[in-house]
Amino acid sequence: MIEKELGRTGERVPAIGLGTWQLGGEQAVEALVEGVKAGAWLIDTAEAYGTEGLVGQALKKLKDQGVNVFLATKVSPSHFHHDDVIRSCEASLSRLGVKTIDLYQLHWPNHSIPIAETMGAMEELVKAGKIRYIGVSNFSSKELDEARASLKREDVVSDQVKYSPFDRHVEPDLFPYCEKEGITVIAYSPLEHGRALSSPLLGGKVAEIAAKYGKSPVQVLLNWVISKPRVIAIPKASSVGHALEDAGAGNFSLAPADLEALDAALGGH
Ligand code: NAP
Repeated sequence: MIEKELGRTGERVPAIGLGTWQLGGEQAVEALVEGVKAGAWLIDTAEAYGTEGLVGQALKKLKDQGVNVFLATKVSPSHFHHDDVIRSCEASLSRLGVKTIDLYQLHWPNHSIPIAETMGAMEELVKAGKIRYIGVSNFSSKELDEARASLKREDVVSDQVKYSPFDRHVEPDLFPYCEKEGITVIAYSPLEHGRALSSPLLGGKVAEIAAKYGKSPVQVLLNWVISKPRVIAIPKASSVGHALEDAGAGNFSLAPADLEALDAALGGH
């Protein structure tokens, strides 16, 4: 599995992790367990998803097998007042069955609550050992600047935003900012919530390149996402088969000429 530095922490995380929004069904826990064991050892959840309990079950199974996981969850914007942040974190820790969350993220900006109040609570959580790193989600570069300026000791290590071969809106502004400032971009909905799979492109250039590497079209799409500097991706998979396929997207590198050919093919979308 390709690994990338998380922010400027010196710590490395896998380029493919596992998302859990709307995760459910019989195989959900097993999909997480097998996906992690196949190399996607980062799991992303949120208090808003209702999947922290399920993630907790997977974490317990993995711990029993001695497998380490980098755990990311999120606090909802309605809980951005100081005491609510602390309460939300305690509740997430309890649902997840862990003592520490690796990455605690502000799920969306909330302009009606001062960011300094929210970040003050986040720094207290770091100091108390309840969380290790502070992240944000759906923040623009301007909002990132404000969030970072309100932190006294810590820095924001990541911004989780929508990014896929079919939605590249964060490329012009956020990508250069994150590259310059050393902030990890966590690409959510990298398969367009499944819609990418019905694109005619999958039968064209993507399939041609996939065949060349002995990979599937899904793996090529995900590999294209993580080929971008600082970017990691968190596809969601409900079955063991999908989780293994997604994890297998992180163990090869497309040659520059193939990336260029893909960029050209995907460019108009
Ligand atoms: P996604 O990962 O782009 O797509 C998920 C869909 O793709 C599911 O229908 C899944 O099917 C299918 N899929 C996954 N792997 C596949 C494979 N190998 N072959 C065929 N189909 C495959 O969508 P997403 O869930 O919207 O985004 C991923 C994660 O990002 C979320 O789970 C969540 O953790 C995070 N997210 C964050 C935010 C935010 O505001 N921060 C917003 C949205 C999402 P199955 O389920 O049947 O396997």
